[in-house]
Amino acid sequence: MTIAQNIEKIYHQIPDSVRLVAVTKQKSVEAIKDAYDCGMRDFAESRLQEALEKQEALKNYSDICWHFIGHLQTNKAKKVLDNFDWIHSVDSMKLAEYLDKLAAKSSLSPRVCLQVKILSDPNKYGWQVSELWEDLSDLESLKNLKIEGLMTILPLGLSEQECLDTFEKTENLAKTISHKSSLNLKELSMGMSNDYLLAVKKGATMIRLGRIIFGDR
Ligand SMILES: *Cc1c(COP(=O)(O)O)cnc(C)c1O
Repeated sequence: MTIAQNIEKIYHQIPDSVRLVAVTKQKSVEAIKDAYDCGMRDFAESRLQEALEKQEALKNYSDICWHFIGHLQTNKAKKVLDNFDWIHSVDSMKLAEYLDKLAAKSSLSPRVCLQVKILSDPNKYGWQVSELWEDLSDLESLKNLKIEGLMTILPLGLSEQECLDTFEKTENLAKTISHKSSLNLKELSMGMSNDYLLAVKKGATMIRLGRIIFGDR
C-alpha cells in the first residue's frame, strides 16, 4: 500500500472531527511531501535536530502545522517554541513553567497538551494523575501557555479492554479538570498506530500515527 492509500483508508475510519497527525520521525522529506500531496497538513516529530533539518527542506510548505511530541529538555525549549505550533509532550511542572517564561519573553502563546500517565509506567514521562491534581493551581497560573488538553501514551502489552479503559480514564480526567479548574482541556491527543481506533472510540481529538501511514521504522 502507498502512503496515499494508507491515508485514504484511515480517513475513512475516523470522523472528520478527529485531527490526523502524521508522525514522520525517521522518515524522509520525500515521505512528508507524499503525505502533504494527499492533503495532510499536520506533521509531528519527536527530536528537535531531525525536525529542524526537515523544516528547513520544507520551508516553502508554509501551511504545515508542526507538532512536537518528544520529551523536551529545557535547553531545547526555545527552538521548539519558535518552530512548532503545538507541543503535545509538556510532561513536568518544571518544563511548563520554563515554556511559560520563554513564551512571555517572545510574546508567543504556544498550544500545548499535558502528558499524563494514567497507568504508572517507569519508561514514560508525564504526570501521574495525583501529581497533576497537585500541580493544577500552578498550571492555571501559566498565562502564556494555551493548555488545550491531555496527551497520553499507553504502556505496551495492554488488552483491548485495558486500552479502552485507559483512554476513557484520560477523557474523564480532562472533563473533571475542565469542570473543577479554569483550564479547558478540550483536546485529547491519544492513539497511535496500534490503538487509534480504540482511542477514537473514547474521544480522541488528535491521533498521532507513524507506522500505519509510512511503514515500519
Ligand atoms: C512515534 C510516536 C508516535 C507514532 O507511533 P506509531 O506506532 O508509529 O504510530 C506517536 N506518538 C509519539 C509520542 C511517538 O513518539
